[in-house]
Amino acid sequence: MRLVLLLSALLGASLALETFVGHQVLRIKTRNEEEVRQLQLLESLEHLELDFWISPSAPALPVDVRIPAASVQSVKAFLESQGIEYSVLIEDLQKLLDEEKEAMARSRRVKRSSRAFDFSSYHTLDEIYSWMDTLVEDHPGLVSKIRIGQSYEGRDLLVLKFSTGGSARPAIWVDTGIHSREWISQATGVWTANKIAEEYGRDPSVTALLDNMDVFLEIIANPDGFVFTHSSDRMWRKTRSPNTGSTCLGVDPNRNWDAGFGGDGSSGDPCSDIYHGPFPHSEREVKAIVDFIRGHGNVKSVISIHSYSQMLLFPYGYTSVPSPDYQEMNELAKKAVSDLAAVYGTKYTFGSIADTIYTAAGTTVDWAYDQGVKYSFTLELRDTGRHGFLLPSSQILPTATETWQALLDIMVHVLEHPY
Ligand SMILES: [Zn+2]
Repeated sequence: MRLVLLLSALLGASLALETFVGHQVLRIKTRNEEEVRQLQLLESLEHLELDFWISPSAPALPVDVRIPAASVQSVKAFLESQGIEYSVLIEDLQKLLDEEKEAMARSRRVKRSSRAFDFSSYHTLDEIYSWMDTLVEDHPGLVSKIRIGQSYEGRDLLVLKFSTGGSARPAIWVDTGIHSREWISQATGVWTANKIAEEYGRDPSVTALLDNMDVFLEIIANPDGFVFTHSSDRMWRKTRSPNTGSTCLGVDPNRNWDAGFGGDGSSGDPCSDIYHGPFPHSEREVKAIVDFIRGHGNVKSVISIHSYSQMLLFPYGYTSVPSPDYQEMNELAKKAVSDLAAVYGTKYTFGSIADTIYTAAGTTVDWAYDQGVKYSFTLELRDTGRHGFLLPSSQILPTATETWQALLDIMVHVLEHPY
């Protein structure tokens, strides 16, 4: 017996990458409050090890859940017994993961024969960090790299600064990848950084923007989580810090901000994917951004980029009370999603976080807004659930290209509405 345990431990160690063979993702449609409550009950059953990609919140809003192979039958039986409608979004998650890996390997083989960076592929932290150095080298008068802190595991938290000079100019902050498994977010961050650098001096809007304001872009806002999604568990969302009194690691860095901290839509359970952490800004990755934005003192816009659901959201998330700037934000969001849709027809919904998706306490943009950063937005990029967090790399370029239109709208509006 001891030998068997030892062997399986060894085997476990060598197969460091968690597999998702037989995991399914279901899309569940609730029709009334009672069905929402049933799903919330399901969510609380820890032994099923369910991973809600979209949590149950209100009737008519879709719920997406990843179910380990061992729980698939019982969850389906439960839904059927309750008469709750569902469909299978992803038949076998591992298949998508294998395809993703194969696409990355293919890109690397091509890369060997050329110096060019492949923007249409997903990349590791090392690849992205080294590309950032290249970008800085290629645009010395415009792009620089700053280190705003260290992650829990000691990795540098790096921010690209786009600036044509001046001191403490009004600024726009953009972060991608604070939830590590949302790979399209970091990939869009990379493409966007390159785009900003290339368009200065060409595109009049970008030129006017950078002649008057600075842009700060943190592409890998949660490096420990990101590395873990490559090395061990592709579905990892949180930070990787230990939690006292629990074997579960990590805090949800988009529930950790001092804005309605600990309220609805966050959890006090360290094992939960929406665990808010022991206290506001407990996570180094969050605290670094807080200190940077406060220290800068002139940040006018915060844009935090996630996936998925195709939404453009603004405060508040912790309350359904409209913010004082609701009207202006709503108009701007409307324009941004319409310009985004004009590129490839991708449809986004928009509105306050609490109205559009669900109540979520402790989010980045609520904190920023309450700090006086009026133009605070969150984007949820492609898709609407067909691939969820495993968006094929063939969609990176179209996603980044259409998102750019929305980002430009917001940035230009910020430039033209000084406050
Ligand atoms: Zn997210």
